[in-house]
Amino acid sequence: MINNPLNPLREQIDLVDQQLIQLLAKRLSLVAEVGQVKHQHGLPIYAPEREALMIQARRQEAESQGVPADLIEDVLRRVMRESYTSENRHGFKATNPEIQKIVVVGGRGKLGGLFAGYFRQSGYGVVSLDQDDWENADTILAGADAVIVCVPIDKTLKIIDRLQPFLTEKMVLADLTSVKAEPLAKMLEVHSGAVVGLHPMFGPDISTMAKQVVACCHGRFAERYEWLLAQIKIWGAKVEQIDAKEHDHAMTYIQALRHFSTFAYGLHLSQQPVKLSQLLALSSPIYRLELAMIGRLFAQDAALYADIIADKPENLAVIKSLKQSFAESLAFFEQGDREGFISAFEKVHHWFGDYSEQFLKESRNLLQQAHDLRV
Ligand code: NAD
Repeated sequence: MINNPLNPLREQIDLVDQQLIQLLAKRLSLVAEVGQVKHQHGLPIYAPEREALMIQARRQEAESQGVPADLIEDVLRRVMRESYTSENRHGFKATNPEIQKIVVVGGRGKLGGLFAGYFRQSGYGVVSLDQDDWENADTILAGADAVIVCVPIDKTLKIIDRLQPFLTEKMVLADLTSVKAEPLAKMLEVHSGAVVGLHPMFGPDISTMAKQVVACCHGRFAERYEWLLAQIKIWGAKVEQIDAKEHDHAMTYIQALRHFSTFAYGLHLSQQPVKLSQLLALSSPIYRLELAMIGRLFAQDAALYADIIADKPENLAVIKSLKQSFAESLAFFEQGDREGFISAFEKVHHWFGDYSEQFLKESRNLLQQAHDLRV
């Protein structure tokens, strides 16, 4: 509209936005220089203290200028995520330049491919041993310094067995399987050299390894695989040491129970007389987020989830007890026991303790972001 009275203000806003773009370009180019320095000196791309101090300082400065502190924190966190991704472009310093050859078994798969890429970006020679390569296994594994197993869970133990004739004492044998006790025991059985079990607590679609967690279960000769953990830290991830059985116990809840209930919810919804498009059109931000979390499971690998859920009897026992909790919860309503529901609700509230408030705050941010994406 030619005579729109908002035009002059809009023009100024456009101008400010353009300046913001120029400032962001400048910031990204400074970050690129930081990336280069970190690469030269082998510094981790994620520096938690620097990040916390910087956010705190900018919040104070923003407030003193009448800009909401949460706004600047949101903007900066998004900008920093971009920065971590672009810091990768320079590659990473190798923590052990003596390592000549890393073999990733399953290196053409999703997670194996991701790790093979990170190793290459760190200057290591990487070779993949995938399912059609076994006739050349001799050549592929000859002289390897580290062998990293990253194959479907149901094949992992057999493949570790199959590796045995090719392993030599100096090799580090590691795996990236989502379950840890059995693969670790199998690696220790077939190999007399260094062994370590790793579980990246993320999928292959991450944009950066900064702030991600890798669970680490010690096997044998930690001093020989120290460089591998140091390398993962340089990529920005946090290495969390844990006993393999404890890890698997935690995964009953973090993975098996969660994947199962998400699957059951999706299955149930798909059998209901509802249209997804209509639910989405009417959804609140939290429902949209919930649907997104459920829907994303079904965009992934069914076999991986089947194996994670079926990993051990404990998983099924806990899942069965979920059925029990479901029946108990339903009974409050079937029996019109409003008071019973409220009292159970209070107990759970108490169990969550301070986390309840913290989660309310954290989820508010997520919901706001989900809402921002709405068109
Ligand atoms: P994927 O199916 O993408 O990759 C598996 C790879 O193994 C494929 O390239 C396949 O060809 C190869 N393979 C199959 N049989 C083989 C054989 N006999 N010899 C050599 N290679 C063989 O699966 P993925 O998602 O990358 O998962 C692999 C491992 O990573 C699993 O142990 C899984 O638990 C673990 N993991 C996956 C994720 C994830 O989100 N995808 C996250 C953490 C851990």
